[in-house]
Amino acid sequence: MILEPASDASAPGGAAWSGERRDDARRAPASRSGAPASFARRGEGAALVPRPGPAARPFGIYVHFPYCTVHCPYCDFAVATDRAIPQERYTRAVLAELALRSDGFDGLEARSLYLGGGTPSLWDPARVAEVVAAVRSRFALPAQAEVTLEANPESADAGRLAAYREAGVSRFSIGVQSFDPGVLAKLGRRHRPGDAERAVRAAAQVVGNVAVDLIYGARRSTVATARADAERVGALPVTHVSAYALTLEGEVLAEETPLARLRREGRLPLPGDDEVVAQARAIRGALRRAGLRRYEISNFAREGFESVHNRLYWRSESYLGLGVGAFGCRHAVDGAGALRWGNARAPLAYLESVEAGRLPTVEEDRLGPRELAEERMMLALRTREGVAVEEVVSARRAEVAALRRARLAVVRAGRLVLTSRGMDVHSAAVERLMA
Ligand code: SF4
Repeated sequence: MILEPASDASAPGGAAWSGERRDDARRAPASRSGAPASFARRGEGAALVPRPGPAARPFGIYVHFPYCTVHCPYCDFAVATDRAIPQERYTRAVLAELALRSDGFDGLEARSLYLGGGTPSLWDPARVAEVVAAVRSRFALPAQAEVTLEANPESADAGRLAAYREAGVSRFSIGVQSFDPGVLAKLGRRHRPGDAERAVRAAAQVVGNVAVDLIYGARRSTVATARADAERVGALPVTHVSAYALTLEGEVLAEETPLARLRREGRLPLPGDDEVVAQARAIRGALRRAGLRRYEISNFAREGFESVHNRLYWRSESYLGLGVGAFGCRHAVDGAGALRWGNARAPLAYLESVEAGRLPTVEEDRLGPRELAEERMMLALRTREGVAVEEVVSARRAEVAALRRARLAVVRAGRLVLTSRGMDVHSAAVERLMA
């Protein structure tokens, strides 16, 4: 049984893909180095920056707000639980980093802004307004562009949500995770099921475009709780759902988490693989019945509400990450290489670096043509858009036929698209198509 691990999830993100799976992607996939010599480092690269033109490629901007009230025991995101959040200082730092990095994205067309965390719903709305305005004006982000803010149910009352809308937010992503009190308790979440429902309804009244996250495969999760969660979400005014299996494997987590340790010590019984697959199926069925279509392995949307921001990741476009622990990626003009970097995960290190006028980069990877091609295929096959058949190297075309015969994939308008069964074995399918 091949499980589609949450760590192999929705988005380009760092040394691993892991943690609480929001519907965004915040880190870059582990990559080998070896970008082409044609890709210059920041400061060397003026010649690589294309002038704006009709063929300008799109990109997204991700801003990380690392502060949370508590650190959930399964979460390996860049998170801080300072009692007093340095709202002003952190905002200034993000704006300073924007000024430091933005030149590298000239010539691209900004399509979306995503404020993730951490818990961005703890960020003062007036500060969020400053950041949104700065990004808008620096990159001419269109007025109707998708601007998402992640919110936790306990910090998402109607007044606060309305203030975020005034700040320019047009979409909320609510961290529901589950409506089952036992599952929430085992995840270490503080909110109650009713809080989540209230937050979703309030957000829908404010902006009408609300995404939620669900987690399954956790302690106390069963097929019944997974189905009930999806049915309850499907009955709410929700446009988008991300559903991820809890991941605790050390090799995909950026940091050791308390639940991962308990698991390793044999003190955290979790549902087995077959049970987790059954839970995923129950969620898919309930969401389908509620009119939410699966358009990516772990993501579902009502028609027209697919995430603009995440699609940029899945289409292997560039992205600018700002803030503690954020990742960015800039593709070379000729598409033959990319530079991916990650910021300091410790707030103080991040703040001090930016305040001294230095980039807060702590890791950097250069990706070459072959790595990019493989990554593009891996990401594209997560989606219903699939990958152009011609992108499969000729030596592997026989595998395309084999996948079709096994009903794991179809070819539609020249694109290879995994079926639902194929998505369940995504990693294995991708491996067969790699050169
Ligand atoms: S609220 Fe979200 S980001 Fe913060 S610790 Fe919990 S899971 Fe992590």
